[in-house]
Amino acid sequence: MKLYNTLSGKIEEFKPMASPFVTFYSCGPTVYDYTHIGHIRTFIYNDLLKRVLLHDGYKVNHVMNVTDVGHLSGDDDSGVDKMEKGAKKYKKTVWEVAQFYTDFFLKTIDAVNILRPTTLCKATDHIGEMIDIIIKLQEKKYTYETGEAIYFDVLKFPTYGKLSHQKMEEKLKGAREEVHIDAEKKHPADFALWFKRVGRFANHTMYWPSPWGDGFPGWHIECSAMSMKFLGKTIDIHTGGIDHIPVHHENEIAQSECANGVPFVHYWMHFYFLLVDGKKMSKSLGNFFTIDDLIKKKVDPLALRYLFLQSHYRQTMNFTWGSVQAAGEALKKLKQIVAQLKNEASDNNNNDPRADIFEKRFNDAINQDLQTPQAIAIMWEILKSDLVAQEKLKLLFSFDEVLGLKLSDIKKLSFPKEILILAEKRKQAKANKDFAASDTIRKQIEEKGYVIEDSKDGYTIKLQ
Ligand code: AMP
Ligand code: ZN
Repeated sequence: MKLYNTLSGKIEEFKPMASPFVTFYSCGPTVYDYTHIGHIRTFIYNDLLKRVLLHDGYKVNHVMNVTDVGHLSGDDDSGVDKMEKGAKKYKKTVWEVAQFYTDFFLKTIDAVNILRPTTLCKATDHIGEMIDIIIKLQEKKYTYETGEAIYFDVLKFPTYGKLSHQKMEEKLKGAREEVHIDAEKKHPADFALWFKRVGRFANHTMYWPSPWGDGFPGWHIECSAMSMKFLGKTIDIHTGGIDHIPVHHENEIAQSECANGVPFVHYWMHFYFLLVDGKKMSKSLGNFFTIDDLIKKKVDPLALRYLFLQSHYRQTMNFTWGSVQAAGEALKKLKQIVAQLKNEASDNNNNDPRADIFEKRFNDAINQDLQTPQAIAIMWEILKSDLVAQEKLKLLFSFDEVLGLKLSDIKKLSFPKEILILAEKRKQAKANKDFAASDTIRKQIEEKGYVIEDSKDGYTIKLQ
């Protein structure tokens, strides 16, 4: 399998540390508002990656976090805690907000057939683990304390910026343009590991005791803590949206590698954004749609999955209702064809060598940095080919382990009783060599919107 690794900037052969086991961490949702279809794009590509690994025979241990504390509205430690903001907006407690939007997130991922992570873990359940890492970093002198927070000192980590391939001077220039609140912060890129419940956070409702007084963790430390706890000090793959590269993931690397003295992640993968009218779909811009908006418009949530699979994960995609509706039509057609194939399929086991070639081409596409647009095109090629029905279905069901379109749930077509009776009458007429009668019955069947085709084993009925 070949994957694009943000760290090297190259497509690389994927080699897990302890094959067939793969350790895989994905940054999950911040549960202060609705999961929207932009998030779903990222989560679907996570799921796709996992399904390809499983299809290839790997055993995947997948961990995803739920951020329910500490994520400020600015990634650079400026602004307010998103959870507290959500609580104010919806007039609920932070805990109620977290529960409500976690449930909405789960409902959403189920609707688009995303496999649940092996472990889904909440930041607020791992405060102790986060404090332990901060203590370790403090002992190793990677931190400093201000009146307001404990910061990670980025200048102490010489390779800071290696993921975004930015030199420290460039980072400094970029960071200077951002807003900074804490005047005691030494370097604009330094990031908070722990916020004290003082000053602008004096009324913060979520807080825990710590060696630095009551407070709450900075956003980045949770991912290091949970990745380490569930998967170990070094893991195979870590994923997230591209917005995470320059700050969140750089910071995760810095604190994890300084705490443990070993590489944190071997393969970093980042998924590109879903846009609306050329702008990132986001909670803060308010230009988002949820799974409920799709259902209201009678769009099958799996149509969204089909739409995202039609584009590559390293390309931004502009969302339009037209495009998701077109994906819905294609999916409907696909489902009809599968239902039809189920009617036609016999138990005969043909071993058509062309099926093997199709299978290889599909596997090559998905293993080439998840080339799903190609994989989908190959699937349609198979459906249009003259392979027998059971061969087509066998391929399709195997591909669907990766695509996740629930094709094996599709039932055989069921036909009205009168059509079945006519079909039987026609068979009888043919057996009696009464071809005039059999022709008349065929026309009757066609007038009712069906076609009948003779086959080796008798006949098959199809929708016109
Ligand atoms: P958040 O809940 O904001 O922490 O985001 C959860 C995940 O969704 C992160 O990996 C983000 O990078 C990703 N994400 C947020 N907005 C979009 C978008 N418009 N398109 C694709 N991914 C997104
Ligand atoms: Zn993270």
